[in-house]
Amino acid sequence: MDAQAKALMNQARCDRCGARFRTQASAKKQLWNAVFEGGEIVGFLCPDCQTADESAEATINEATLDYYGPDERGRTVARPKEGES
Ligand SMILES: [Zn+2]
Repeated sequence: MDAQAKALMNQARCDRCGARFRTQASAKKQLWNAVFEGGEIVGFLCPDCQTADESAEATINEATLDYYGPDERGRTVARPKEGES
């Protein structure tokens, strides 16, 4: 995760329970998920609120996507990793 993505995460709150990412224990921070819609981050989920499916999906996203941004509209977006598989 790059510095811009980290800055974004530091302002993040869980969509379901409102927990602040910034105040989580660092072991737990690793488990937070970004919620994607059409390649854009639209929200976040803390580990307590993720379903098993969401957790598995995040692991796949983490392995296969690069996060970058902000783009010209101020969004953080994701794209498939290149040159690795
Ligand atoms: Zn939560």
